[in-house]
Amino acid sequence: MKTCFRDATVILHRDDRPVVLEHHSIVVEDALVAALGPAGDIDRLVASAPPDQILDASRHIIVPGLINTHHHLFQSLTRCLQPVQTAPLFEWLTQLYQRWQHLDYETHKLAAQVSIAELLLGGCTTTSDHHYLFPPARDIRLEAVLEAADELGIRIHACRGSMSVGQSKGGLPPDSCAEDEQRVLADCERVLDRFHDPRPGSMRRIDLAPCAPFNVSPELLVDTAMLARQRGVLLHTHAAETLDEERYCLDRFGCRPIEYLRRHHWLGPDVYLAHCVHLNAEEIELLARTRTAVAHCPSSNMRLGSGPPPIRDMLDRGVVVGLGVDGSSSNDGGSLTVEMRQSLLLQRVVRGAGAMTPAEAFSMATRGGAAVLGRPELGNIEPGCPADLVLYRADDIALAGAVAHDPLAALVLCQPPRPDRVLVHGRTVVVDGRLTRVDAGALAERFNTVARRFR
Ligand SMILES: [Zn+2]
Repeated sequence: MKTCFRDATVILHRDDRPVVLEHHSIVVEDALVAALGPAGDIDRLVASAPPDQILDASRHIIVPGLINTHHHLFQSLTRCLQPVQTAPLFEWLTQLYQRWQHLDYETHKLAAQVSIAELLLGGCTTTSDHHYLFPPARDIRLEAVLEAADELGIRIHACRGSMSVGQSKGGLPPDSCAEDEQRVLADCERVLDRFHDPRPGSMRRIDLAPCAPFNVSPELLVDTAMLARQRGVLLHTHAAETLDEERYCLDRFGCRPIEYLRRHHWLGPDVYLAHCVHLNAEEIELLARTRTAVAHCPSSNMRLGSGPPPIRDMLDRGVVVGLGVDGSSSNDGGSLTVEMRQSLLLQRVVRGAGAMTPAEAFSMATRGGAAVLGRPELGNIEPGCPADLVLYRADDIALAGAVAHDPLAALVLCQPPRPDRVLVHGRTVVVDGRLTRVDAGALAERFNTVARRFR
């Protein structure tokens, strides 16, 4: 299948900077971008080798698919839950574990479908999912997430997460949610063997992801890091999210969270850390030097009152930073188009109007996310790369006037628009603002019935 998107405004990266190209066309052939250039040049190209279809994109802004570096897909089950609407992280978690321990395979898959549907409708084409909840008494397997991703057509880094320190051992989750560590490692091996696809452009990778210092033992951290490095896969965890976590680490381990991770071989170019809100200058330097990446989740950090992370300083020091929506119980929304705006506004609250440009926010959501997930083939539009494309309508009333001045800034600073069309790996998953592979209304209705059981 060969499609030409003709005469669009295209925003992509050249020499690691976003550029806006007016009157450009993109040819997609099967899964890949086959050609990109000024509309006149591409017209001549397609005249000699006609595509299956030519779509008029003269009223569209086309950007690379946005990349989500942190999520917990199952948490859409408990978003806006009344008892935790005003709770900070530890209280929030303690209350939610009591509900999450009743998760089962079908509910997990349904929640993943809902969260993925929302991601696609927010312009995301690649997502990480950090699933750490595997109560041993329940049938919970990573397959639920992988099936949902496959069915809706998103590219995924499914993290096999873990929690092994329950309340009886001084951890935060109830013992019913904690797993035996040998069982965790055996299941990590199983899902790596069965599902991890390391090829460039792959739709499915497995990362390994113990949940946090307050629910995983140091032994499991080290064993997981060793396994990941034997297998050449990424490591992911939460780090330095709240001052409560910092106090927990100081009391229990005698050091701050980043130092704790360093001692357990958890810094390096194969590690990405969610949040990193409470970092000092030395810790930022350490992340930059070790090429440890950061998944920045601005809405979640505001929603839970965790604090504003020093993203300006991280970018200035060369830390690799991508954006994340985080789980739907601590954001309540799953749009990366929104997170671009949130990331910019949050830095400006702390550091003033010059703290972040629209181009920097856009870069974090695209090239930054690709770098975090070790996917140099993603986050840009160029011949030979996977055709992950998001088309916004330039005549959206929310962007009116703004696109005449600066189409990139329009996407970041205006009321975040919903994409009109989304392609993942060359396959169209959103058309006219609607999902092509699932009835979103029916899915939402069914999900509301299930979610009521988690009150
Ligand atoms: Zn998280």
